[in-house]
Amino acid sequence: MLRLFSRERMWRRRDLQRQYDVVIIGAGIHGLAIAYYLCKRGIHRVAVLDRSYLGGGNSGRNTAILRSNYRTTEGIPFYDESLKMWENLSEELDYNLMFSQQGHITVAHTDASLAGLRVRASANQVLGVNSRLVDSGEIKKMVPAINVGKDVRYPIVGGLYHPPGGNIRHDAVVWGYARAADRMGASLHTRTEVIGINRQNGRVTGVRTTAGDIQTNTVVNATSGWCTTIARMAGVSLPVTSFPLQACVTEPLKPVLDKVIVSANLHVYVNQSDRGELVLGSEIDPYTSYSQRSTLPTLEMIASHTLDLFPCLRDVAVMRQWGGVCDMTPDYSPILGEAPQLKGFVLDVGWGTYGFKAGPVSGARIAELIHTGETPEVIRPFSPSRFAEDRLVGEKAAAAVST
Ligand SMILES: Cc1cc2nc3c(=O)[nH]c(=O)nc-3n(C[C@H](O)[C@H](O)[C@H](O)COP(=O)(O)OP(=O)(O)OC[C@H]3O[C@@H](n4cnc5c(N)ncnc54)[C@H](O)[C@@H]3O)c2cc1C
Repeated sequence: MLRLFSRERMWRRRDLQRQYDVVIIGAGIHGLAIAYYLCKRGIHRVAVLDRSYLGGGNSGRNTAILRSNYRTTEGIPFYDESLKMWENLSEELDYNLMFSQQGHITVAHTDASLAGLRVRASANQVLGVNSRLVDSGEIKKMVPAINVGKDVRYPIVGGLYHPPGGNIRHDAVVWGYARAADRMGASLHTRTEVIGINRQNGRVTGVRTTAGDIQTNTVVNATSGWCTTIARMAGVSLPVTSFPLQACVTEPLKPVLDKVIVSANLHVYVNQSDRGELVLGSEIDPYTSYSQRSTLPTLEMIASHTLDLFPCLRDVAVMRQWGGVCDMTPDYSPILGEAPQLKGFVLDVGWGTYGFKAGPVSGARIAELIHTGETPEVIRPFSPSRFAEDRLVGEKAAAAVST
């Protein structure tokens, strides 16, 4: 019989056990990906706990732009490994993630930012990442709707074109990893808040939750914007500050834009979704907060700068606006690995405004670290000890909208 849809549940509701090999706090892309890759390595006694719903944090709120045109020799191979994993992930998870490698253009409006993009293009090419400088004429050919004229305050002077960049359906990614992890035996628990971390003799022994205590030797902190609150429960101090980041979508339009357009100088980015909506985003709000609410000043900023790039959108209505909470580090790079102060307390945090794209590589490499006890080479530069050792990885290309 032809079955148009499946009545099978995407993931099961299992009873919370009192003991697990690994407890992961946070059911966003990072927590769920780690659970999935641990199961692939044969570690199945894994619980993922979230005080909200799956993907209720930044993973369900982000604009899901994927790229690897970073700037540092540490960042480029790391994000490129992820981009290559995205290319096969729909097939691997047996779930359509709607990945579209439509191409990504970062436009520059000043000579200084063009010089920065030139450095990135060279670093990308040396490390095998497809990206190159383009002039405003070529940008106009690829994106007919964009204004490359001189009649604006900051005319476009060129850009960095990264053909393999694009975007993906964020909630499909969360559901795909959740379903795959569940099928392999991981246990997913929503509405389960972690309220304490148990420790003895310098190592983790368990977590306290609103559903009771759980014993474990390994706890992963994958709570992005809230990571310092969990770290504090473990007596670990993180150099992370939480800032809101907002985005919005317009009413659906006929196809007008088939590239991701980012302006570092105007702090705005735009792409068109499969449904026709334009997805617009910007820089973090200029104050620390755990608020996920949207604000009028940010909307005004996004709208006015989008119109500098695309004056043709002036009559288009914005339909929805929202916010998430981003865990910003001083060097715009993540913090990955076991906390030096506490054995068994693993950090997968510091994802700021750019962590969704790193979900596959980070999930796989943190699972490898837990399984083998060895830090994989590609995440070694992002170790939690780098701050004390003065080895920061200044990844200014992490936030696409920063110059
Ligand atoms: C508007 C916006 C746009 C973005 N755009 C992009 C983009 O285009 N590309 C990109 O790569 N990145 C982007 N990002 C960043 C990206 O969304 C995040 O870096 C990434 O989703 C982090 O995933 P995560 O799994 O670590 O955390 P999250 O998805 O935030 O999950 C953390 C989870 O921890 C849970 N939690 C917190 N405290 C507790 C507790 N005490 N007990 C139990 N659970 C707890 C929360 O409920 C939450 O579900 C954007 C972010 C925002 C907000």
